[in-house]
Amino acid sequence: MKRKTGQDRSITATWRPATQAVRGGTARSEYGETSEALFLTSGYAYDCAGDAAARFAGDQVGMTYSRLQNPTVEMLEERIALLEGAEGCRTMATGMAAMTAALLCQLSAGDHLVGGRAAFGSCRWLTDTLLPKFGIETDVVDARDTQAFIDASRPNTKVWFFETPANPTMDVADLTAICAAARERGIVTVVDNAFASPALQRPMDFGADVVAYSATKLMEGQGRVLAGAVCGRKAFIDDVLLPFTRNTGPTLSAFNAWVVLKGLETLDLRVMRQSENALKVASFLEARVPRINAPGLPSHPQHALAMRQMKMAGPIFSFELDGGRAQAHGLLDALQLIDISNNIGDSRSLMTHPASTTHSGVAEEKRIEMGISEGMIRINVGLEDPEDLIADLDQALRAVAL
Ligand SMILES: *Cc1c(COP(=O)(O)O)cnc(C)c1O
Repeated sequence: MKRKTGQDRSITATWRPATQAVRGGTARSEYGETSEALFLTSGYAYDCAGDAAARFAGDQVGMTYSRLQNPTVEMLEERIALLEGAEGCRTMATGMAAMTAALLCQLSAGDHLVGGRAAFGSCRWLTDTLLPKFGIETDVVDARDTQAFIDASRPNTKVWFFETPANPTMDVADLTAICAAARERGIVTVVDNAFASPALQRPMDFGADVVAYSATKLMEGQGRVLAGAVCGRKAFIDDVLLPFTRNTGPTLSAFNAWVVLKGLETLDLRVMRQSENALKVASFLEARVPRINAPGLPSHPQHALAMRQMKMAGPIFSFELDGGRAQAHGLLDALQLIDISNNIGDSRSLMTHPASTTHSGVAEEKRIEMGISEGMIRINVGLEDPEDLIADLDQALRAVAL
C-alpha cells in the first residue's frame, strides 16, 4: 500500500474537512484503484522467517494480524483523525466498544470519574454499573452546569466523561469551559460526539483530550453496519489505548470499515441537509407539542451555546407530550412514512420512545433525574423531503388529538 506522492500528513492535514471526508487517509495498492480497496484478510504472510521476526520486533514496517492492523481499517482511522483534527484514531467494532476502551484503558481501581447525567443508556451503564464493579468510583452531574463537574471532583478524579448534545434530552455542555476546568486540574476529558460528528462539532478545537464515537450513526449514515472510534493525542492513542485494544480485541472488521469509509464521503452533505430538514420539522412541531428540546431553535435556552460549538444543530432532537407513554406510543403507531426505530444518524427519518426502548434499562428514578419523561419522543430527521415528514407528523399528531 502506498499513498499518492505528496499524500503525507504535512499536505493532507491542510485540507478542509469536506476534502478530508472524501480523500483523507486514502492509500492505493499496486493496482491504483480509485475506490478504497477492501482487504478481507485475518493475517499476512512474510517473505522469510527473518521478516516475520523483524516485524514482530517492530524493526520492519508492515502488518502482522488483523486484530492489530488492516490496510482498510487504517485508511478509515487516518480519515477520521484528519476530520477530527486529532493526532491519532483507533476504530472499534461498535460505539460502545469505543466508549468502554476509552475509559477502561486509562482508569484503575481507586480512580474516580465524573460523568454527564444525560447520556446514551449503555454509557450510563458503564458509569453506574461496570466501572464501580472494578473499584472505579463514579458520580454523575448535570453536564449543562460546568461548576457541577468541579464540585463533584476529588483528588483521585481522573476522567470527566460526557456527551453534547446529550441523548435524548439534547442538553448542551459548554466544551470550552468544561475542558479548561479539567485541564487546570489534570483531569482527562472524554467527549462522546456521536450526535454531532466532526462535520458539525470538533471537541478538540475546544480543548477536549479524547473524542469517542459511535460511527454507526452519522459517519456510516445509512443504517448498514456498526462501528466505533476513539481519537486523541498520539501519546494517548499509542501508549494508553493501543495496549488495551490490541490485547482485548474490540477490532473493527475490514468490511465494516470499508462501509464507513464510503459513508464518510457524503458525511458533510448528509449532515448539513439533515440539519436543515430537522430545523424545518422542529419549527413545525414547536407550535404543536407542549415541549421541544431542539438546540437549533432560537427559543432553546442553550441555542447560543450550541451555535458557538456547532456548525448546525444536527438531525436529532426530542419533544414531549403531556399524555405519557400511551399518547407517545399512539403517535408512533399512527406514523405512515417515518419509521419507529431506535437508531439515529440514518438517512431515513426514525422516531423512538426512549423510556421504553433506548433507556428502558435505566431505572425509572434515574430516567426522571436525567429528564426522560414517559411522554418524550426522539426523532432523527433524514434526507426525505421535509414537507412529506411534516405531513406525516401532522396526521399522526391529529390521530392523538394534537
Ligand atoms: C449509539 C450511541 C452509542 C453506542 O454506539 P453503538 O455503535 O450502538 O455501540 C454511544 N453513545 C451515543 C451518544 C450513541 O448515540
